[in-house]
Parts: sequence; C-alpha cells; structure tokens
Amino acid sequence: MLSLRMCGDSRVELTEVPEPIPAAGEVVIATALSVICGSELHGFRGPGQGRGNSGHEGAGWVTAVGEGVDPSWIGRRVGACAVLGCGNCPECAAGHQTWCFQRGGAGNSHAEYFKISVNGLRALDDDIGWEAGVLLSGDGFGVPWHTATKIAQLDAPTVAIWGAGPIGLGSVIMQAWRGRRVLVVEPSVWRRAAALERGAAAVFDPTAGDPVAWLKVECDDRGPEVCIEAAGRPETLIGCLEAVRSGGCVVLNGEQGSVPLSPSDHFIRRDITVIGSWFYQDCEWPDMLAAYRAGLPVERLLTHQLPPQRAQEAWDLFAGGQTGKTALVWHQSAPPGV
Ligand SMILES: [Zn+2]
Ligand SMILES: [Zn+2]
Repeated sequence: MLSLRMCGDSRVELTEVPEPIPAAGEVVIATALSVICGSELHGFRGPGQGRGNSGHEGAGWVTAVGEGVDPSWIGRRVGACAVLGCGNCPECAAGHQTWCFQRGGAGNSHAEYFKISVNGLRALDDDIGWEAGVLLSGDGFGVPWHTATKIAQLDAPTVAIWGAGPIGLGSVIMQAWRGRRVLVVEPSVWRRAAALERGAAAVFDPTAGDPVAWLKVECDDRGPEVCIEAAGRPETLIGCLEAVRSGGCVVLNGEQGSVPLSPSDHFIRRDITVIGSWFYQDCEWPDMLAAYRAGLPVERLLTHQLPPQRAQEAWDLFAGGQTGKTALVWHQSAPPGV
C-alpha cells in the first residue's frame, strides 16, 4: 500500500509499505481522508521520521479486526481519536481518556490503511460526511470543541482569538456559532480573510499596530471577557493576559515552553483566570455530534483536499499558512469486499 514518509527538511514522499495487521484490541481502517495537523510541522520542517508518518487524524472504513474486537465493526464508517486511554481506570470510565495515566497515541494515518486501538473508534452514521467525521473525531475540531466547553458557562459576549491557524479558525467557527462576537488577532492576510468568512466580526494585523490597544477600544476600553491563545507564542500569551478584561478568562491552546509572567500584574490584581485545554475527551463525543446535527458548520474548517500524489503541495500550502485544515484523499469509496 501507499504511505507517506516524512523525509525531513520540509519534504514528504509516497512509499510502498506492507499493509498493517491488527494486533489484539486493534482494527485496520481503509483511509478515506487523513488530515494534516499543526503538531506535525516540527517533524516536517526538521528531522522527519525514519519510518512511517505522524498522521493521527483519519477516517475511513474498518477492514479488519484483531483478537478480542467485535467483528461487527468490519465495514463500518469510523473516525479515529488519536489520544487513547487504557479503558480500565477511573478517568477512562468517566470518559476522560486524556487524563489517563496510561494514555497512548496512534499514528501513520497518512496512508491507504492505518491501524488503531478499538478504544479510539468513533462510529460515523451515514449523515456524518467524511469531512465533518474526520474533523470531529480527530483534534481538528476536537480542540475548538473542548475549548468551548471550558467557557460555555461564562457571561462572555466577546471572545478574542489570538492566532487563526487551524485551531484558532476552528474556535472562530465554534464561538461565532455560539452567538458570541469574535475578534481575531492574526498576522497572515489569508487567515484574517478566512476568519472573516467564518464568522469573525473584526480582525487585526498585529504587525501593523498594538493588538492590546485595538481589543480595548473594540470592547468599551475594558477588553474582551475571554481571550483564547491559539498561536503558542510568548508575545501572544502576554497579549492575551494584558488585553483581557479585569475578572476575565484566558484559555491556552498553543503549546509552548516557559514564559516569564508576573503573578501580581498578570493574575492577582485583576482577578484573571487562566485555563489550560488539551485535545478533547471521549465523553464529549455525543454532544459534538448533536451540535453538528444542529447546524455547527464543522466542514468549513477543511479548506483543501488533495490526492496523495500531491502530498508535497498539500504540506507546502499548510506549512505556509495558506490553508485551514488540509486533507489527503486516499480512498474515494470503500475498498472491494468491505
Ligand atoms: Zn493533531
Ligand atoms: Zn485509563
């Protein structure tokens, strides 16, 4: 079968590899779509991978099951959730698999077939298309969804989103759908336009002025009730903490290392709450499907779909900030016999 290899130095190539064989507790999926994640860019630009690929967002048809897996999965349309719990601990029992001490991951979804633990399967009914299915079951829309659960109860008419890459753009769609006024800080022209097309009320180029001052002016000189940090940069984190209204909340999506902060200035004297938010949890899946069926326009996050033969072009576009989520199309229809 064809599989993507991460060559390093911003190059990918298709290679011929053996089809995966499911171990006990695993299934093999014939890939309809695999989606590129921003978390893969480090490996893409840098060292690459000796074997396989970092793909972890995929959806398709189950073609084989390993020992101990219900064979009725075969032929079903599924999405894959790449953060896997052990299935046996109290966190897993509560549907909080991301908090499982034995949690694991999955990979190699940029291929004609990939395998994953049965714990990571999300059944997709026929009314859930591949685009929505792969975004909801992976972290593409999972992260914006989980983030939204953290601020759902807040009285927050305005949400400022710092960074409109795929994760920030998902939060634009999510928060606008929730009826909030969404303000976006983003240096890329393409991403600012994409944010406006997907529900942002106004956008600002931080290379052309002070985004903190802009947000204050946009929000009665007080700042937004919520800032979502979706860029993963020290200056955007500091900007969120300075721009948010006193008593407000900052949600952290962007991964990064240490950033110098002042407990007094950034938190204590303005009663600021900071919330971390990672991936999404098994227990959230029914609500995600219900929101999609109620009209949440999940698919608007997926802007490009290319065949694997154009994988290099797909990666270059994605890495260049000229796309939302970007998919490779491995199978147009179910393989024979499924
Ligand atoms: Zn991801
Ligand atoms: Zn567990």
